[in-house]
Amino acid sequence: MRCPYCLNEDTKVIDSRPYFEGESIKRRRECPNCEKRFTTYETVELSQTFVIKKSGGREKFDRDKIIRGLELATIKRDVQHEKLETIVFDIEKTIQNNLNSEITSTELGNLILEKLFQLDEVAYVRFMSVYKDFKDIKSFVEIVEKVNQKKILEEDGNKNEYE
Ligand SMILES: [Zn+2]
Repeated sequence: MRCPYCLNEDTKVIDSRPYFEGESIKRRRECPNCEKRFTTYETVELSQTFVIKKSGGREKFDRDKIIRGLELATIKRDVQHEKLETIVFDIEKTIQNNLNSEITSTELGNLILEKLFQLDEVAYVRFMSVYKDFKDIKSFVEIVEKVNQKKILEEDGNKNEYE
C-alpha cells in the first residue's frame, strides 16, 4: 500500500483488526520513509493474498486448489462437501487476520492438517502423506499412531457420555 503523504511504495502494517464482522479489515499503517501513520479500510480480496512457497516463490491464494486437495483426501469418506467449504472459509478468515495477507505454504499446510485432523483421520493421513512427502516409513507410522491416539481419546470420551 502506497503512502498517501510521500507516495513511498512500501508501508508497514502496525495494527490490523476485523471490522464490519470480518468483511473488511481496518489497518493502521506506518510509512517507514516519512514515518506518518494512516488508517485504511480494506476489503480483503483473497485473490490478493499470497502463499509463499518453500522455494521463496509467491503464488496467489487459490481456494479452488485447496478444495481440490481436500476432495482428493476425502474420496470415499463420509464427509460432506459443505465441511470442506467450511475448512477453507476458516482458513481464509485466519489469513485475513494476518498482518500481511501472506502465509507460507508450510503454515497453510499445517492449518489444513489441523482442520482435517478434527474432521476425518483417514483424510488427515492421506493429506499428510502427500503434503509432508514422507521420507521414510517411520514418520508415516508416527502419524498413524498420533491418529490412533486421538481415536482412543475420543472413544473414551464417548464412553463417558453414556455412563
Ligand atoms: Zn510516507
